[in-house]
Amino acid sequence: MPGGPAATVAPADSRVNLMGMDREDLAVALAPLDVKPFRAKQVFQWIYNRGITDFDEMTNLSKGLRAEMAERFRIGRLAVNTEQRSTDSTRKWLVRFDDAQEAETVYIPETDRGTLCVSSQVGCTLTCTFCHTGTQKLVRNLDAKEIVGQIMLARDAFGEWPSPSEDRQLTNIVMMGMGEPLYNFENVKKALKIVMDGEGLAVSRRKITLSTSGVVPMIHRCGSEIGVMLAISLHAVRDDLRDELVPINRKYPIAELLDACRAYTGLSNARRITFEYVMLKGVNDSAADARELTRLIQGIPAKINLIPFNPWPGVAYDCSEEAAIDRFADIVQRAGYFVTVRKPRGRDILAACGQLKSESVRAKGQKTGMAGG
Ligand code: SAH
Ligand code: SF4
Repeated sequence: MPGGPAATVAPADSRVNLMGMDREDLAVALAPLDVKPFRAKQVFQWIYNRGITDFDEMTNLSKGLRAEMAERFRIGRLAVNTEQRSTDSTRKWLVRFDDAQEAETVYIPETDRGTLCVSSQVGCTLTCTFCHTGTQKLVRNLDAKEIVGQIMLARDAFGEWPSPSEDRQLTNIVMMGMGEPLYNFENVKKALKIVMDGEGLAVSRRKITLSTSGVVPMIHRCGSEIGVMLAISLHAVRDDLRDELVPINRKYPIAELLDACRAYTGLSNARRITFEYVMLKGVNDSAADARELTRLIQGIPAKINLIPFNPWPGVAYDCSEEAAIDRFADIVQRAGYFVTVRKPRGRDILAACGQLKSESVRAKGQKTGMAGG
């Protein structure tokens, strides 16, 4: 621009990012380079199984090809805004995407496993009344690169490349971060296929759980097209209460949801469903609720995960008393179901279920006058 200051900012990297591309995408991207189709498979392995970001390390490709690829392509990583560690060793990464939107990824270490809780959207369109994410407007769906990127970020942090066959710190993945994964089906499916691929991140489908608030028409497709373990956020045993707590229930009420679950497990015996049930004091935690739960899910191969409610500023609910949780668990267990009570993790860094994104949005809200938090 005449008279304007000389440009000092480096131009943005215009090379095509290969991250998030599946085998087919890579084949298409590499086609102009006039290489044999099996090269795409090798590149897939370098990216997702070896975690390589520098083309020069792709030693089974010719030097010429490596140089040509580096000119056209890059293998990106998600930027981390902040990383926090809880006193209980839970780790939370606030990741920043290319358009400056943010989402959170949480790692929860336990004695026998290490679980990564992955986000599928920035915010959520649904408005479950007990969930902090639900108070935030959906900004957008995450794409495959942004979903698989969260897992690769954790792998980088643990130095777990190439994808180890044993002694992993990251053993399990739950799609239980921000957002409703079944409202972002194609991107979640594409990302999880790369994650499950034996030549990719190589995480077994049995170690991946997708949690949904109950998007009934997508449950069957989740089973047949993705095939990971399914968790249903039930939280109430009567429609009037579930309408209030999980408003998607007005569209897909409990009976329809449970029919979809029956059909889902009917496809395969291995398909035990996890029912998640947040424990809200005096709201859904009575002995009668517990008995009704066992009656409702009769015949569905299921386990029950009771989640003590994690409070957040301004919320009207309290967490159930320990005695009420024990009583509830006892009734469900006596009816023959396997019950776990989720231990709240990372509450001090707002990394526990339903607390995600809160701090970052609140900080922004103060600056811009945005609602939320
Ligand atoms: N949108 C999906 C997945 C993300 S939420 C779903 O709703 O299933 C992951 C789990 O955390 C869900 O079971 C959700 O109901 C639960 N949850 C949300 N807010 C919570 C809170 N404040 N305390 C405890 N659990 C919460
Ligand atoms: Fe969205 Fe799940 Fe939170 Fe409901 S519980 S608002 S579906 S993230």
